[in-house]
Amino acid sequence: MPVMEDGAVRGAVFESKQGRRAVLAKVVVDATGDGDLFHRAGAASSTEIDTRDIHHCMNTPWLFGGVDMPAFLHWRVEQPAEFSEFMRRGKAAIGLFDRAFVSWRDDVALFMGPRMAGFSAVEVDDLTEVEIRSRRLMAQHLEFYRAHAPGFEGAWLMLSAPQLGIRHARRLVGMGAVTRESWDGRVQPDEIGVSPPLSPSFANVSVGYGALVPARLDGLLAPGRHLSCDPSSHSFLREIPQCWLTGQAAGVAAALAADRGVEPRAVPVREIQRALLRQGAHLTEAVAEQAAA
Ligand SMILES: Cc1cc2nc3c(=O)[nH]c(=O)nc-3n(C[C@H](O)[C@H](O)[C@H](O)COP(=O)(O)OP(=O)(O)OC[C@H]3O[C@@H](n4cnc5c(N)ncnc54)[C@H](O)[C@@H]3O)c2cc1C
Repeated sequence: MPVMEDGAVRGAVFESKQGRRAVLAKVVVDATGDGDLFHRAGAASSTEIDTRDIHHCMNTPWLFGGVDMPAFLHWRVEQPAEFSEFMRRGKAAIGLFDRAFVSWRDDVALFMGPRMAGFSAVEVDDLTEVEIRSRRLMAQHLEFYRAHAPGFEGAWLMLSAPQLGIRHARRLVGMGAVTRESWDGRVQPDEIGVSPPLSPSFANVSVGYGALVPARLDGLLAPGRHLSCDPSSHSFLREIPQCWLTGQAAGVAAALAADRGVEPRAVPVREIQRALLRQGAHLTEAVAEQAAA
């Protein structure tokens, strides 16, 4: 829960072994991924998704132990028709059927988990449903792989992710936003980072500070997968390196705002850019030159 003061966020309430407590702050960085803090503080958000992309799907990864991955990979390469038939039969038997990936050990197989669409990551009933379905699918995969996949005869369920894997819940409506139109190589004047594009056929994407700042709410910044962007841009801005990029910028901007005693929206962007450059962050050459001038 956010702590509010005169319409601005000034801390967060949390529960622990010591009961309910609050941390007060001049600036709060909401990194919940689901916009829990900015949403409860009253900031507007978008839940629009692109159903052609996986950016809104949930899935829970798991590991099988007791596997002979080299034997499985050998079979997959040497018997491609048998492998295709195995995948076809798996889909027919289980529905959402996942392929095994290599891990850091030859006796451990990684499954990213079947991708589930049509559920909300902020509805408790939906989260429970996905949790139960994920667990069922793990057991069904184990049974099918043990019966039909060479190398999996002695497999056992080793570990599943402790939390559901959520890609999308809400996205901030920010002072600015990264949108599909900006994939043409244009450089945002308030750039705080540069993202690789969705595919090599596009230019790198300049990410502006406005995508982390709520349109109206003060005292808060929102980096990570709930930043302000359209669904197409979310498909790659939600990725881990991009979350580092926006997280670093939000940390820098929050510290500058707190030091100066101003709201995040009032921090001079050049100061954020200069601080990021000192930390070794990458900005477009022209932006870096302007920030240094
Ligand atoms: C199955 C799966 C596979 C993926 N594979 C890749 C990949 O290969 N490469 C890649 O780059 N990206 C991948 N992604 C995407 C990427 O992992 C995420 O988009 C990214 O980690 C999001 O980072 P974040 O810090 O914004 O949010 P999160 O990683 O979701 O972190 C949010 C944190 O806030 C906590 N939290 C949330 N709400 C509250 C609350 N109310 N109170 C207290 N704590 C709270 C959560 O517990 C969590 O620890 C994958 C995602 C999934 C689901």
